[in-house]
Amino acid sequence: MSRYLIDQYQALEVYTPGEQPQDQQYVKLNTNENPYPPSPAVIAAASREAGRLQLYSDPVCATLRDAIASLHDLKRENVYVSNGSDDILNFAFMAFAGRGGRVYFPDISYGFYSVFGGLHGCAYHTIPLEADFSIDPAKYHRRDGMIVIANPNAPTGLALSARDIEGILRANPDQVVLIDEAYVDFGAESCVGLIGKYDNLLVCQTFSKSRSMAGARLGFALASPGLIADLDRIKYSTNPYNVNLMTCAAGAAAIADNAYYMDNCRRIEATREAATERLRALGFTVLPSKANFVFVKSDRVDGGTLYAELKKRGVLVRHFDAPRISDYNRITIGTPEQMDVLIAKIKEIMGA
Ligand code: PMP
Repeated sequence: MSRYLIDQYQALEVYTPGEQPQDQQYVKLNTNENPYPPSPAVIAAASREAGRLQLYSDPVCATLRDAIASLHDLKRENVYVSNGSDDILNFAFMAFAGRGGRVYFPDISYGFYSVFGGLHGCAYHTIPLEADFSIDPAKYHRRDGMIVIANPNAPTGLALSARDIEGILRANPDQVVLIDEAYVDFGAESCVGLIGKYDNLLVCQTFSKSRSMAGARLGFALASPGLIADLDRIKYSTNPYNVNLMTCAAGAAAIADNAYYMDNCRRIEATREAATERLRALGFTVLPSKANFVFVKSDRVDGGTLYAELKKRGVLVRHFDAPRISDYNRITIGTPEQMDVLIAKIKEIMGA
């Protein structure tokens, strides 16, 4: 840090991304990427646009927003697109809370929520998960600030029903309720269908997980036109070309190829269920996940040790050295072959 950085940023707790090693070939199960590549049409669309990179992208992202809207039975004015869904979370904390504004989210959830809370000087409060790591929706009723819930939650993988979310919306008519559906395509119930009924609902999704495009950086928000216009105000005050030319085209092509991606999601769900059984057979506690990862612990090896021993053997998983969850590791669901390697290495470590 230099002495020029203003005070308000000196004390920031920044987000630590999962490792992205550029040198060694790991079985990479640490950042919830999709193990399957983008569809050929998506790769072709991105390559086509590469030859037009001298031009700015369409600031309105009309084609892409129309494609996303029609997939969800919504209109273009219900859709906002961004450079990854982290950007939307950032803007939401800025727009709907801001300095001193109240925000409520679970104590164990996506680590960026508290970072954005700190960045924008929000008065954020964490609400403890239950002993079994579930969210009690009643604890989010009648709050006096924005509510942020990842559904399914990360890193637990546990999901709420759309009915529970509706209860929260109904009990907070004057607050924005942000539901982060980054992992919803792996078997959880989306609340997108409630958008026409509740103008305080802001749903975030991403192409990073179910649509194999983490490196392209594409997220989107679905909400009432008013909330979308609010996000647009921030976009046009920061970076109007927030989605690049290649990503815009790749995103629209991915929507056109929806069946390919939904097939991959079903495959990942099947791999998840198989991995859950195999890990349980090895004595692991595995939370019932609706995401493309499982959150696991064993009484025989502590979380930090398992992480380190797997890394030594070429398998990367995610360990959070944080209260309540340091016994656990979050393991991304890869291909069946990658999960075979994981299980073999775990057996080796447990046998030792
Ligand atoms: N929300 C949750 C719960 C996540 O785990 C992630 C991925 N780290 C994101 C949002 C952001 O994803 P992206 O910016 O790649 O869209």
